[in-house]
Amino acid sequence: MPSFLCIPITVHDLAPALTDAQAAKDAGADLIEWRIDEAFSGSDDEHELRLIKQLVADSPLPCIVTCRPTWEGGGYDGDDDARVSLFEALGTADTPPRYIDVELAAYSRSANLKQKINLAVEHPKQVRDLNTSLILSAHDFGGRPMDLTRRIAAMRAEPAASVLKIAYRARSLRDNLELFDLIAESDRPMIALGMGEFGLASRVLASKFGGFLTFASLHQQKTTAPGQTTIRELLDVYRFRSIGLRTRVYGVVGWPVAHSIGPIVHNAGFEAVGHDGVYLPLPVAGGEGDDGYTSFKATIGELIDYPRLDLCGLSVTIPHKENLLRFGQEMGWEIDPTAAAIGAANTLAVERDDKGAIVHARVVNTDVTAAVSCLTEAMGGDLKGKHVGVLGAGGVARAVVYGMANAGAQVTVFNRSLQRAEALVDAISSALGEHVKLEAQPLAAAGKSACDAYINCTPLGMNGGPGPEQSPISIEDIGNRTDATIVFDTVYNPVETPLLAAAREARLRIVDGVEMFVHQASEQFALWTGSQAPSGLFERVAREALGTK
Ligand code: NAP
Repeated sequence: MPSFLCIPITVHDLAPALTDAQAAKDAGADLIEWRIDEAFSGSDDEHELRLIKQLVADSPLPCIVTCRPTWEGGGYDGDDDARVSLFEALGTADTPPRYIDVELAAYSRSANLKQKINLAVEHPKQVRDLNTSLILSAHDFGGRPMDLTRRIAAMRAEPAASVLKIAYRARSLRDNLELFDLIAESDRPMIALGMGEFGLASRVLASKFGGFLTFASLHQQKTTAPGQTTIRELLDVYRFRSIGLRTRVYGVVGWPVAHSIGPIVHNAGFEAVGHDGVYLPLPVAGGEGDDGYTSFKATIGELIDYPRLDLCGLSVTIPHKENLLRFGQEMGWEIDPTAAAIGAANTLAVERDDKGAIVHARVVNTDVTAAVSCLTEAMGGDLKGKHVGVLGAGGVARAVVYGMANAGAQVTVFNRSLQRAEALVDAISSALGEHVKLEAQPLAAAGKSACDAYINCTPLGMNGGPGPEQSPISIEDIGNRTDATIVFDTVYNPVETPLLAAAREARLRIVDGVEMFVHQASEQFALWTGSQAPSGLFERVAREALGTK
């Protein structure tokens, strides 16, 4: 059965809460969770009780009533007896809530309290005709509870609980897998969600694993738990309603990845070609020395081996491109010769049989062909004999220099650290053979050089980078170019960097980072789906997301 989509609404006053609930219904939600922690004080206030009863009666969708105490991360600091009296009153009201949520810790604290709650909800031994069911819940905002197994066993031992709920802060992507296992093993409907950035998969994939519901916020400002997505994002980007048991999972692995435009682009593509897939941000922390590889291998290895996840493809970005290649080599997967020559890869394509077993896995670098295609299109012909200046000597520069030299261009690598530029030139020369024309120069020499094209592979000009206002070639030197010069920036956020703005001003031909992103994403998409990527759509949604339509 598909999972419900529930919007939690923090209640202060009746009218705004109902307005939000109507907006949630209009946006496509199935359930409302009234968070009354701050509207109910626990004092004997008739006005509060009337407001809450009215809220439930006027709720435009079936509702859960939750009065979360401060000791479980909520806002209610009154006593438990008052809460239970409220639940009794609601359970027997003319219009009762569909569910009440009570924490396991409160429920198991006293036999008297448990008995009162049991009298207010429907369950196998209930003698009265009631329509409210009990969600028994446990939360940990700090991490995976040490006593998780004990808590789950304690919940399962309660026959009056119709739905079980566990939510804790996920510390790694691997925590999602344990949450999926809990749902699979549960003897009744279960909500199992990871909080924080690492828990997104458990929220988006609830339907794939049979979770009872997932929560989403109405707006970014109205989240009630860390890592909650908005309903728009869940429905429009992740296409929550189309996710089912057989949906294949893809994602972008990196650190950080929360702001990647990959999910917007690839999910739109899956929808356009009718591919049953979903693409998620998959954060995997880096680390010094071998630590980054160890965490990449442990996390990605476990996700790939978890058969019910159907992980079929990854985009891999900073700082894990070398780690993907190394992992693929250790696993004995097919390694694309270009990725092997460069020492880095950005794509994993996994083919599985009907039972989810891996049939074939391939590690590829699509940055190389993307950069070459972008420049070839801008030049209007092949790159043989053209002089290309590559600015930077890091990971992206490596792919770009390899691609340009392999396509027959003469390449000068300009870099802040000349030594690193020389090392890159040596590495690519030995990979491609001494016949390629490569040289190294300090970055400062780029301005007075005379190349047919310049490709920025430094983070200068990038939002959040070391010099968002800076250009790797001075604006004045850009202005002195002939108008046949092409200026290509791999940075795509912002789309128009200071370097590209200067080039536009000087009427030079421009290639921006979105074009390269779309090319490399299109090749990944084709590898995963077997369908040609809707590149026009990719470009449109990427530019919309980056704010330049
Ligand atoms: P990287 O490996 O860290 O390399 C960074 C390079 O930039 C190094 O050569 C470094 O020079 C240079 N650099 C860094 N800060 C500098 C500064 N303040 N002044 C001058 N030079 C500086 O990074 P990367 O993985 O190659 O990524 C570079 C950029 O490519 C990213 O910022 C990203 O925006 C872009 N990118 C675009 C796409 C796309 O699809 N469009 C894909 C991937 C990446 P030193 O050697 O002297 O330190």
